[in-house]
Amino acid sequence: MRKQIAAANWKMNLTYQQGEELLDAILKENIELKEHQQAVFAVPFPYLIMAQTRLGNKKNYAAAAQNCSDQPAGAYTGEVSAEMLRSINIRYCVLGHSERREYFSEHNQSLAAKTQRCLERGITPIFCCGEPLSIREVDAQESFVEAQLKESLFHFSPEDISKIVIAYEPIWAIGTGKTASAQQAQEMHACIRGLLKAKYGQVADSIPILYGGSVKAGNAVELFSCPDVDGGLVGGASLVAADFLTIMRALK
Ligand code: PEP
Repeated sequence: MRKQIAAANWKMNLTYQQGEELLDAILKENIELKEHQQAVFAVPFPYLIMAQTRLGNKKNYAAAAQNCSDQPAGAYTGEVSAEMLRSINIRYCVLGHSERREYFSEHNQSLAAKTQRCLERGITPIFCCGEPLSIREVDAQESFVEAQLKESLFHFSPEDISKIVIAYEPIWAIGTGKTASAQQAQEMHACIRGLLKAKYGQVADSIPILYGGSVKAGNAVELFSCPDVDGGLVGGASLVAADFLTIMRALK
C-alpha cells in the first residue's frame, strides 16, 4: 500500500517548552503506526534537534523542516541548507507552502532548486501546490496546479520523483476553517495523480498525495477515505495533541 502520512505543520507557533509538551502528549499515547503509515512533525528550525531526539527512535515517526535553502552552502545569511538538515538526520522537508510562496516570494523555479537540494541529501520533499480562490472561482485549478508541478518537478527522473511527497493545499482552505469537500479533494488528487501518470507512468501509483486545508479531527476520516488522498498536511489542528492524535488514527 502507498505510504499514508499525517504531517503536522506547526508553522511559527509554540515556544520551545510548548513544543516539547505537545510532542510528549502525542508520544504518550503510543499510537502504533502500521508499516505504511507515518507521522511527520514539521517544527521550527530551533526545535528540530529536540523533535528529532524525541521522535528519532520511534518507528514511523519523523521530524521535518518547514523550508530549506535553494543553495547548497555559502554566504546566505539566515538560510538553512539541506546538507545541514541531513547532518542532524532530518528526513523530510516541507517545500513551497503557500505562505512561503506568498510572503517570501518563493516561485516554481526556486522550488525546483530546493527540491533538488533535498533529493541530493536524501531528504524527502513534501512539495506543496494548490490554487488561490480567484483561480477556483473560474474553475482553472487543474491547469494552475499542473503548471506548478511541471515547472518545479517534471524535469526530475522517475527515480527522483518516486522519492517526493506531494501536498495539495487549496489556498482558500488553509487556516480559514473552509475545507475542500471530500469530492473536491478527490477530484484534484486524481488529477494530480493523472498528471504524474502521464509523465512518469506506474511510479505515480506509489507517490503519496496529502490533502491540506483545515483538516480537523472531525473531517479527517472522510477526507482520508478518498482513494487518492494519502493523509494530510495539518496546520491549526496539529497544535492540539488530542486533535492531531485523532487525525493520525484516521489514516488508512
Ligand atoms: C497548513 O499549514 O498547511 C494548513 C493546511 O493549515 P490549516 O490546517 O490550519 O488549514
